[in-house]
Amino acid sequence: MDDKQRVRLLSLLKTHFGFDRFLPLQEEIVRHVLTDRDALVLMPTGGGKSLCYQLPALVREGVMLVVSPLIALMKDQVDGLKANGIAAELINSTLSNSRIADIKASLQRGDIKILYLAPERLASEGFMEFLRGININGIAVDEAHCISQWGHDFRPDYLNLKDLRDEFPDAGVIALTATATLRVRKDIIDHLRLKDARIFLSSFDRPNLHYDIRPKDKAFSDLITVLHSPQCKDRSAIIYCFSRKDTETLAEDLCQKGFKTEAYHAGLNTKERHDVQERFIRDETPIITATIAFGMGIDKPDIRLVVHYALPRSVEGYYQETGRAGRDGLPSICMLFYSYADKFKQEYFIDQIADEAERKRARDKLETMIAFCGGNICRRKFLLQYFGEKCEKDNCASCDRCVRPKETFDATVIGREVLESVRSTGSRFGVQYIVDILRGSTNERICRFGHDALPSHGQGRGFDALQLKEIIGSLMEKGFLSRAQGEYPVLELTAEGNNFLNGHAELMLPQLRTAAKLVVDDQAGLSTSHRASLREGEALWDQRLFEELRVLRKQLADSRGVPPFVIFSDVSLREMLVSLPQTDEDFLAVKGVGEQKLKWFGPAFMGVIGSYISRR
Ligand code: ADP
Ligand code: ZN
Repeated sequence: MDDKQRVRLLSLLKTHFGFDRFLPLQEEIVRHVLTDRDALVLMPTGGGKSLCYQLPALVREGVMLVVSPLIALMKDQVDGLKANGIAAELINSTLSNSRIADIKASLQRGDIKILYLAPERLASEGFMEFLRGININGIAVDEAHCISQWGHDFRPDYLNLKDLRDEFPDAGVIALTATATLRVRKDIIDHLRLKDARIFLSSFDRPNLHYDIRPKDKAFSDLITVLHSPQCKDRSAIIYCFSRKDTETLAEDLCQKGFKTEAYHAGLNTKERHDVQERFIRDETPIITATIAFGMGIDKPDIRLVVHYALPRSVEGYYQETGRAGRDGLPSICMLFYSYADKFKQEYFIDQIADEAERKRARDKLETMIAFCGGNICRRKFLLQYFGEKCEKDNCASCDRCVRPKETFDATVIGREVLESVRSTGSRFGVQYIVDILRGSTNERICRFGHDALPSHGQGRGFDALQLKEIIGSLMEKGFLSRAQGEYPVLELTAEGNNFLNGHAELMLPQLRTAAKLVVDDQAGLSTSHRASLREGEALWDQRLFEELRVLRKQLADSRGVPPFVIFSDVSLREMLVSLPQTDEDFLAVKGVGEQKLKWFGPAFMGVIGSYISRR
């Protein structure tokens, strides 16, 4: 490793971004980008992707182009860079022609280090001609999955990026995304024509997120409890609802309880939607009830709570939406309320899909989502495995399953009956059919196959259909049954299931949901470790000072016309509470404080902290 380069990179990291060290993979990626070779970076939200192209831009002559689809975000990003003392600009349709001409002139003079561009710009031959005339040292393609029709957010404009690689053969292209499926990965490499791209794949675990899935029966009171918890009180939260109507009703109910809340949905016009979003970003409205349309194009780092008040349609969607919580790495909660009624609602919508293949895909996705909700394994483990990542730990200590493990019951008898009915029907039938046999149904199909004569016929009458499905789910998790994909999904007895049937072992399965009691305590949703850190936190920092610093941050943000997080992140404010800086040197030591922020904001923050110290 080249030590001189390392020192230089660390010094730029500190002076501009105020960080002492790199997050995982960042340093490797920065070094790779500096060799002008192509790269594909797959990192979850909050992984620190932007620094991977922003830092290299500072090391060299010329400009780094950043293509991003999220016009609404570009300004915040550019403002954030300027607050870090970095010459950045953007060109998109929101600018006047004369402003664009000014920026072009600065580019020609070599005064700009980072330029954000909307993808449609690259369709213009005139603009390409202009770009050919300036010194481009690298090209970053943010949200690169937008180029793939297989991603969740295909943008036709991204096809304009196809020729970039050939147009600027000397500049390395770095593509970044938080979507990790193989198909999307391949599309990005193919469509951007990346050359021998090195792939940087980081873990998709979000350790600061606490996952909590619970039955919907007491959703509203559970929600109020969590909104009152120290972690979420007066902090930003998004609550995803099923319909427009639901967003409005819930927003009203929350306002009545004294929580400032606004609804966001497709029924609002563009201006109204924009305004709601702005008030959220600027910390004026903490809580938004929304349909899924909300969130894309928001990179607010301090969202402390994401709630799914209705069942999401897919695990991908759930992961993406919950991913909006806690980008800054501070503990945040993801809560989902689950009910069978919601499942039926979603199924009803899926049944309306005309295209058969698409309908089947949608149904499979929903099935997986339901398996996730009902499942008994660690939520984190399920998510990581779903995205193809190995997860060694069985207990993450920060999800409802690990914090409040279910009790178990002796399922030896019913378990054997279920497995026996699968075996004796030749592993050729689906869940519903097996349930029908166990419930003693004499429907036409069962009689036609003669399955009403099986010994297990009617042996599950002590359970209702939903409970039997839960038992089947648990047997699948145990590995005794698996789901085989044929034309229709059928249940198959596995070798382990067969061994169990041939043996005399006892079988304990997790207590059934319908029989289980729900425990909600006053710190619902907080894991033991979070509680510990809160207790520790209370001792370390005074909530009152934190609020004062937030007020100051908001004032400074408003006077500059930027969102509060552009001034300082919550992480920086929390560090100030601990170190109570009173000198430039101490202030610079705070995470997220570089030279520029020290100069612009240091005096004001140290002033507030100083008066707090003298009052104490
Ligand atoms: P992504 O684009 O991957 O979602 P961001 O680039 O927005 O992530 O970074 C997420 C958060 O992590 C931001 O608040 C950013 O300031 C912070 N961050 C980035 N790099 C570092 C670092 N080296 N040390 C500490 N915090 C960092
Ligand atoms: Zn867990």
